[in-house]
Amino acid sequence: MASKSEREYFSSLADLGCILCRRLGYGESPAQIHHIRRYGGKRDNAPVIPLCPEHHTGNTGVHGLGAKAFEKTYNLTQMELWEESEKLLHEKREANKLFG
Ligand SMILES: [Zn+2]
Ligand SMILES: [Zn+2]
Repeated sequence: MASKSEREYFSSLADLGCILCRRLGYGESPAQIHHIRRYGGKRDNAPVIPLCPEHHTGNTGVHGLGAKAFEKTYNLTQMELWEESEKLLHEKREANKLFG
């Protein structure tokens, strides 16, 4: 069961929109939370990224293609997407501090 701060983190992450759509220039697509589980760690500690339903579980998504083919198809790694989403989240927080 996710804690309150975890839920807040997940929802602000999802609010960024799909990180892959953003990268591909498709704009902001409503996103779900994907756990990156490639390093064999526990799900609780897994890095998470926002992905739209298609890029998450669709035919062109990380679960549809499998992690390896997904990264090859888009020429990136899930950890790169994670770094990008963390950066966006940080920028958003800083902006909120200034204006909110
Ligand atoms: Zn997407
Ligand atoms: Zn997933």
